[in-house]
Amino acid sequence: MPPANPPFVPPGSGWPEDPAAPATPVAHGAGEVAELAAGAPDLRELCARQSVCRACDRLVEWREKVAVQRRRAFADERYWGRPVAGWGDERPRILIVGLAPAAHGGNRTGRIFTGDRSGDWLFASLHRVGLAARPTSVRAGDGQRLIGARMAATVRCAPPDNKPTPLERTTCLPWLAREVEQVAPSVRCVVCLGGFAWQGVWPALEQAGYAVPRPRPKFGHGAEAELAPPPSASRRDPVLLLGSYHPSQQNTFTGRVTEDMLDAVFIRARDFH
Ligand code: SF4
Repeated sequence: MPPANPPFVPPGSGWPEDPAAPATPVAHGAGEVAELAAGAPDLRELCARQSVCRACDRLVEWREKVAVQRRRAFADERYWGRPVAGWGDERPRILIVGLAPAAHGGNRTGRIFTGDRSGDWLFASLHRVGLAARPTSVRAGDGQRLIGARMAATVRCAPPDNKPTPLERTTCLPWLAREVEQVAPSVRCVVCLGGFAWQGVWPALEQAGYAVPRPRPKFGHGAEAELAPPPSASRRDPVLLLGSYHPSQQNTFTGRVTEDMLDAVFIRARDFH
């Protein structure tokens, strides 16, 4: 019988890469998310605050239930059971945005896109094009590192059926908007993995001070839009927003997304100046 798993890892209790400490302030509702995101003095503290958030009752209950029950393949593992914070370079040229962590991926490992099939595809591609130090991302503390890139999700907690509600997206938005704002001085390209991330990133970009085109361009694999950067950016030339089909199991199994297609997106992002 495997040992029982607590519903979440206590902040600052020794989990590798845990950005939080026991005293990190916890948001318990939408208003507190907005307040704590706006008041975070730097990116590290912002990520710490993201990682202990309890604002969405349904998602808190779900992520912790999954952490206690676990999937049979991971029955001997401890699950993270907390929101998955932004991760990667603190001054990235490329920001990669996904929808939300997977129940047995990020919600288990505590690192975005880590420990599931989508992440396997994603990190292999990033490594091939020189944006990740290793071809796999297995667990926090495994030595993986992004090179000039950073990842974040539009919703930070694993949702049932991978479907956050509109209210949950709105509640979580200030975390992403503030993260986008914090990295804006260095970012040259934003890559959105999937149509939901494409939809979810626009309000965050606007809140972070980007001038976005209207109407919004349609999502597609390789879709592009140019954005005027916020005043905090070091350069005045446009930032590239780039769409990519999500490397989900369904998309990769059916050939809707291939390695070459994914590599082409990240090569475009890498080489954009
Ligand atoms: S989804 Fe976002 S706002 Fe909701 S509990 Fe998770 S981190 Fe907090």
